[in-house]
Amino acid sequence: MPELPEVQLVASHLDLLVRGRRIEQAMLHRQRLAPAFTPEDFNAQLANARINSICRRGKHILFDLENDRTLIVHLRMSGRFSIAAEGTEPPRFTHAQFDLGGETLHFSDQRHFGFMNIVRSDELNAAKELCKLAPEPFGEDFSVDYLRSKLKASSRPIKEFLLDQTKVCGLGNIYASEALFESRIDPRKRADRLTKPKAEFLHSAILAVLERAIESSRSVPVEPGNIGGNFYGEQDSPDWSVYGREGEECPACGESIMRLKQAGRSTFFCRRCQR
Ligand SMILES: [Zn+2]
Repeated sequence: MPELPEVQLVASHLDLLVRGRRIEQAMLHRQRLAPAFTPEDFNAQLANARINSICRRGKHILFDLENDRTLIVHLRMSGRFSIAAEGTEPPRFTHAQFDLGGETLHFSDQRHFGFMNIVRSDELNAAKELCKLAPEPFGEDFSVDYLRSKLKASSRPIKEFLLDQTKVCGLGNIYASEALFESRIDPRKRADRLTKPKAEFLHSAILAVLERAIESSRSVPVEPGNIGGNFYGEQDSPDWSVYGREGEECPACGESIMRLKQAGRSTFFCRRCQR
């Protein structure tokens, strides 16, 4: 599932490709993708609107439209966009399409977990998808003090805490595991038991792992036919320290990396380095 760096990549590629284009017609093929709208309403909200820009908030992609509406998109497990010449056969599992005049933007989603909503742009921050999100990690509000205050109020294991988008925004399974490894924190440790220095390490580790991922994603080529389907190219997946490396040697100490399940999700860690 895409996390902040991957969603950022999709948003920036979309922005490059369709900023300034006009949506002539919007077709909702799978109504549950946008449960608040009938296909007719969906089109009525979007038709004839020019796309001002595309950006990201948390793991949501935001299409800012000229008609004072914002289309909110969550890719979830397998949502992706693609652009093709008008009249091209849509990809399998296309659940929505946007005719841009000569070209069509498709949203396809094999796993059917993707989500769209349309809200008034001046009420964007109050939208139910966004209103409870934690501050953006790279914004001023995501300070060490902020993180410590949220940690102190939570008795959950730190790994689960990090996945809670209302506490820390943008992390998923990969970057939570990596940030905990980088800050040498046992993923099972209770959030409210973290010392001040550990909370400081964690804060800078979160920023560091996200920053590195965004940096490495800059080399991903813009592919109009596959926006979000293949984040790092065929062989070019990033070099995680612990994520997906069960049984391999810890890059810091050589101990075998372990995997455990927390709240149904895999966590990878080194039991010697992470305390
Ligand atoms: Zn280790």
